[in-house]
Amino acid sequence: MKCSDVKKLLSVYHDNRLSSSQTQKMENHLAVCRLCRQEERTLFKIWNMLEALGPIRPSPDFKTRFWQKAQEGSFSQTWWTSVVYSWNQFAVGARPVFALTSVLVISILGTLIALKVLPETFARGDKSPISQWAQSAVKGGLKL
Ligand SMILES: [Zn+2]
Repeated sequence: MKCSDVKKLLSVYHDNRLSSSQTQKMENHLAVCRLCRQEERTLFKIWNMLEALGPIRPSPDFKTRFWQKAQEGSFSQTWWTSVVYSWNQFAVGARPVFALTSVLVISILGTLIALKVLPETFARGDKSPISQWAQSAVKGGLKL
């Protein structure tokens, strides 16, 4: 059994839900691997502490009060949480419009660059690497 397998199975091992052969492999590994043994001991301490706390029991009217507050919308809403909430609502609604606008702007810019900038650089005999690549791409087909 590898260290990664041991780490994945430690909680199952703790609950005594491993098969007897897996338990044997786990214990063989823990006997020889100091790091996994250390992790196992730390986890067991944490689990024991959590078990010692016992279950958390909400007050009998917790559910009623919770839904009452939810309906009133009185979960400590400050001015900035309502601003953030409003912005999120707006951003979700505006997302398709923003995406479409971005596609249009990029298309227009791309067309402008292709129509205006590249022919001018061709005419001037620009020797920049990008211009030379563009010229060769136009003449001899695209080679990337
Ligand atoms: Zn190990």
